[in-house]
Amino acid sequence: MKDCIFCKIAEGQIPSHKVYEDDDVLAFLDISQVTPGHTLVISKKHYSNFLTTEKDIMHKVMDVAQRIGQAQMSILGAKGVNILTNVNKEAGQSVFHFHVHVIPRYIANEGFRIEMKQNEKLSELSLPALADEIKKAI
Ligand code: AMP
Ligand code: ZN
Repeated sequence: MKDCIFCKIAEGQIPSHKVYEDDDVLAFLDISQVTPGHTLVISKKHYSNFLTTEKDIMHKVMDVAQRIGQAQMSILGAKGVNILTNVNKEAGQSVFHFHVHVIPRYIANEGFRIEMKQNEKLSELSLPALADEIKKAI
């Protein structure tokens, strides 16, 4: 897609530090390293995010993400890994071409922290009704 930075990387118009490549998937180092080895795995074809990606391509990207996480643990000496994909700006997505972050973690809380806090204002929520709603839509 025109003006998409990750399409340009996939087409070789913009340089990247490649970690893996096949016909459908490319992985390269994130330009802003959260921790050493922070890698992005992308589909070569343009999809705007995880939710809109064709299933077999999404599976291929996730397969590569798993292999990169395993390599970060075995070769880089990571003690943990975060696998993260943001969907839309509300969730923090800034490049609108499907990608998965594979972020090796060496020391607890060094680099970044995802904190899931229970929202006290939501204590009245009906979990059975919510679960039913989602269940019906799958
Ligand atoms: P997100 O916020 O999930 O959309 O992540 C986009 C990521 O792409 C950010 O972590 C950026 O640092 C990264 N990024 C943007 N431009 C480049 C580039 N030219 N090469 C490598 N990574 C990039
Ligand atoms: Zn693109």
